[in-house]
Amino acid sequence: MPAPAAPTRREELLERLARPGTWDIAVVGGGATGLGVALDAASRGLSVVLLEAHDFAKGTSSRATKLVHGGVRYLAQGDIGLVREALHERTTLLRNAPHLAQPLPFVLPAYKLWEMPFYGAGLVMYDALAGVAGLGRTEFLTRGSTLAALPTARPEGLKGGIRYWDGQFDDARLALALARTAAVHGALVLNYCGVTRLLYADGRVTGLVAQDAETGREFELQARCVVNATGVWVDALRQQDAKVIGRPVQPMVAPSQGVHVVVDRAFLPGEHALMVPKTADGRVLFAVPWLGKLILGTTDTPRDDLPLEPRPFGHELDFILRESGRYLVRAPAMKDIRSTWVGLRPLVRPVGNGDEPTKALSREHTVLVGRSGLVTVTGGKWTTYRAMAEDVLEKCFAAHLLPRAATGVTATLPLVGAPDGTVAPTPLSAPPGLHLYGSEATQVAGLEGGDRQLGGGLTAAMVRFAARHEYARTVEDVLARRSRMLFLDAGMAGELAEEVGALLRQETGVDPQVGAFRALAASYLKGSQAPS
Ligand SMILES: Cc1cc2nc3c(=O)[nH]c(=O)nc-3n(C[C@H](O)[C@H](O)[C@H](O)COP(=O)(O)OP(=O)(O)OC[C@H]3O[C@@H](n4cnc5c(N)ncnc54)[C@H](O)[C@@H]3O)c2cc1C
Repeated sequence: MPAPAAPTRREELLERLARPGTWDIAVVGGGATGLGVALDAASRGLSVVLLEAHDFAKGTSSRATKLVHGGVRYLAQGDIGLVREALHERTTLLRNAPHLAQPLPFVLPAYKLWEMPFYGAGLVMYDALAGVAGLGRTEFLTRGSTLAALPTARPEGLKGGIRYWDGQFDDARLALALARTAAVHGALVLNYCGVTRLLYADGRVTGLVAQDAETGREFELQARCVVNATGVWVDALRQQDAKVIGRPVQPMVAPSQGVHVVVDRAFLPGEHALMVPKTADGRVLFAVPWLGKLILGTTDTPRDDLPLEPRPFGHELDFILRESGRYLVRAPAMKDIRSTWVGLRPLVRPVGNGDEPTKALSREHTVLVGRSGLVTVTGGKWTTYRAMAEDVLEKCFAAHLLPRAATGVTATLPLVGAPDGTVAPTPLSAPPGLHLYGSEATQVAGLEGGDRQLGGGLTAAMVRFAARHEYARTVEDVLARRSRMLFLDAGMAGELAEEVGALLRQETGVDPQVGAFRALAASYLKGSQAPS
């Protein structure tokens, strides 16, 4: 069990950043990928700094469908290796962070008789690939059992169903747990400190320049190895690298956006998620109970820009509502939407520019070691962040960027907050509350304001804890990623902004940006801002 995490006083973190010396690894980007690399490296005893331009998980890593999964749909595409690895990682994640990642039963309702044997065979194979990492057996359900599991599934024409098991998680809180566990192992992790340029000597990358977003102060850092883990934004640093090495680089990422719609649990009560393997236009659709609400999604729409806050296109919202309505007794409408959020998938294009791609399949991750020694990693999925990190470290050793360090230990490393296993964790389908803090729940409850409920399971003490121990600086940090209220109920999040801001101001002394958050919350509530 890791030692309790230390307070995260920003002045002290910045002071450490300013100290002279050479880091073993400097990681750019504080999403799942970068945080996974930082934790892997720090727990091997390497010196690690990780810099995030905005907040941890502000990018794609807070906007997942919240599934810890092998990816049933990748099985249909014949990606056996990818599925097997993800199923293995699924179990590892559930074991190392049981307060934030748990098994979840899914039911695939069958409205045509052929669907039972067809999809059943695939799901039985999914079980077989999981082997000992399986979470529960795939079962064929009668019509009655299907309706018992999915009480509001459309009954007309229902033939039966198939129940299978996967996992679900709280992505942004898991990212924080990674950051804080890396810090316990000595890593310096810092949000609101973007990397503005890389430093070179003789064509080799030797460090970077970072800027504190709050003060504008610049820091020059030396590092043996710089890892570019900036998600869909990786090409920005690669373009800088290209200028120095004097060769053009082809873009690595083809972004594709996925939209989620959140409605009340009344649309699908019970403890099962609903999975539609093939919607009218051939996509997969999920209805997933999560933190007291129901997530519907997602879409897969190519984009050629990379906004930090992408918004859904009108046709994507229409699609999700219409398709959900085909499977549920009561079709959700625009007026029922509590929040919408959008993530950009870093799908990887094959790269042919002299760099060395390890793998170039679109849904898999890719690690490139550039001519300058800049290491770039992107693609993959949240579920496999740990295996991706091991792969990055292996590539760094193989390229002699780092002396080979101790073997990775993250497969059996509990994350900060992981309970000791004596108490069964509260399901992630339950509304948010203290249980999401795992072994730290008592500490959180004991802070000033532990009994002052602000709304939606959030207490004043949780806001204080976020500022003192979880790197929170703004109202958005608290209401979008420490609590998930923005994602669950954007209207309530907007209403709480002022109160949360006042508490934060007391704790940090900086402007918590209440007005900006209110505008953001309004856009999550309104849904589409773009034409269909
Ligand atoms: C709609 C959708 C649903 C998904 N659902 C699932 C799911 O259910 N399960 C699953 O396993 N996976 C899922 N995924 C995939 C998963 O979310 C991503 O693979 C993962 O979050 C990518 O993490 P990342 O760290 O590479 O990128 P990001 O999370 O985007 O992190 C990159 C970070 O780099 C920062 N950054 C950028 N430039 C700089 C700079 N110059 N200096 C410092 N920092 C910088 C950004 O601010 C950002 O925080 C989903 C993805 C999408 C889009």
